Amino acid sequence: MEGCDSKNGSDSFLDCLLFDLDDTLYSRSTGMAEFCRTNINEFLMQRFGLTVEDASKLRVDLFRTYGSSLAGLRALGYDIDADEYHSFVHGRLPYDLIKPDAELRDVLKRIKKRKLVFTNSDRVHAHKVLHRLNIGDCFEGIICFETLNPNISKSKRPDEYPVILKPSKEAMEIAIAVAKADPLRTLFFDDNVRNVAAGKSIGLQTVLVGKSTKSKEADYAIDSIHDLHAVIPQRWLADTEVNDNTEAVVASDYQSISCKPSESSVSTTTLVRA
Ligand SMILES: [Mg+2]
Repeated sequence: MEGCDSKNGSDSFLDCLLFDLDDTLYSRSTGMAEFCRTNINEFLMQRFGLTVEDASKLRVDLFRTYGSSLAGLRALGYDIDADEYHSFVHGRLPYDLIKPDAELRDVLKRIKKRKLVFTNSDRVHAHKVLHRLNIGDCFEGIICFETLNPNISKSKRPDEYPVILKPSKEAMEIAIAVAKADPLRTLFFDDNVRNVAAGKSIGLQTVLVGKSTKSKEADYAIDSIHDLHAVIPQRWLADTEVNDNTEAVVASDYQSISCKPSESSVSTTTLVRA
């Protein structure tokens, strides 16, 4: 890890933690990202009759230019339904590759600060992943695709409402607004260098996850989310183990993962734009 010198001092003013989901709260070694890329290729092949090589090239081009295949296709005028796209791309992922993470759960439960998930992924995917990790009840809320793009389903043409995602500044500002957080008092975790840079541009303290070396805009870098304790002051952690009922959460279906009744004014499971 790198850049953790201030963990016992100057960051005590922080009061909110924002966590990206995919490849941040679980390791990319699960292979989920690769399955996701394969599914996007398959979507493009079916929709446009492309070869796998052409679909893969289009996916990469759309990602580089527009941030995601869905955003790019809609910007180019293709009427791709977001729910249908997410259902195809995420709905067939092998979620059983993601295992309950008791170690992460213990640390999250002990952190006496506001904690939210901030992901470009859709709500259903976010709930499934958090349920698999058994950490859904560790968070006050989930800021997800639907939070960032509340008007997509109402659009009369594909480019009427551009898809908003990290790393756009607008996405970052929406997240901070719906979380009712102070950017200068927020610690943001993400595995994507561009997202970390976007967070830094609006004043967040930033942690690059999954890397041993900081990017230019990262305040810290940690190899794994399991090193989370290294970038927070020890005094943030509850001294004693938090009363926990892991089995009850594991047994519940993902729909029942609810945000803990919050200490703040934000209390819904999936946050919505004001
Ligand atoms: Mg990520």
